[in-house]
Amino acid sequence: MQQPMVSYIALGSNLSNPVRQLKKALLAMDQINKTYLLAYSSFYQSAPMGPKDQPAYINAVAKIHTRLTPLELLDKLQAIENQQGRERKEHWGARTIDLDIVLYDHTIMQTERLTLPHYGAKQRDFVLTPLAEISPELVFPDGESISQALTNCAHYNLEKVELDKIKD
Ligand code: ATP
Ligand code: CA
Ligand code: CA
Ligand code: CA
Repeated sequence: MQQPMVSYIALGSNLSNPVRQLKKALLAMDQINKTYLLAYSSFYQSAPMGPKDQPAYINAVAKIHTRLTPLELLDKLQAIENQQGRERKEHWGARTIDLDIVLYDHTIMQTERLTLPHYGAKQRDFVLTPLAEISPELVFPDGESISQALTNCAHYNLEKVELDKIKD
């Protein structure tokens, strides 16, 4: 693969200092071979999507360039999740870090391990709002614009985090 592909990664955390978890994951993504970090959004606090008896989430979206294939990229992201102590207990339960591939170029795929674009991204404001911040003109492979998607998605009490006020 000669040309780097643009991919967008959604980050989420609600355990063990979420802001620090996101910063750590951004640095780790830049360290992946054949991959570098182009941009990342503000950090947003959001209400949990699954069980309500868990802390609020911190979310952001990163834009990367990569020469890895989608599955190679997923492997690397899951390795970062494991390095940061991700445990899978209940569905949509609390986690130190979650890294979802929102988009990989214009690729559409549906396999057991990987669905592109991410199946839930367009329904979640905690993905769309940070995504729109770094890519306001983005159009999904199905032709829907990010602004159209934002008018149709579910809302999770999003609040921008003032990073300089967060002690880490
Ligand atoms: P959701 O997928 O609804 O956001 P979740 O992120 O909590 O929930 P996980 O337990 O992190 O779900 O992931 C379950 C599986 O989803 C992963 O093991 C991975 O193989 C698969 N998966 C499918 N499509 C993607 C994608 N685009 N990005 C990341 N993982 C994906
Ligand atoms: Ca790199
Ligand atoms: Ca997720
Ligand atoms: Ca995930």
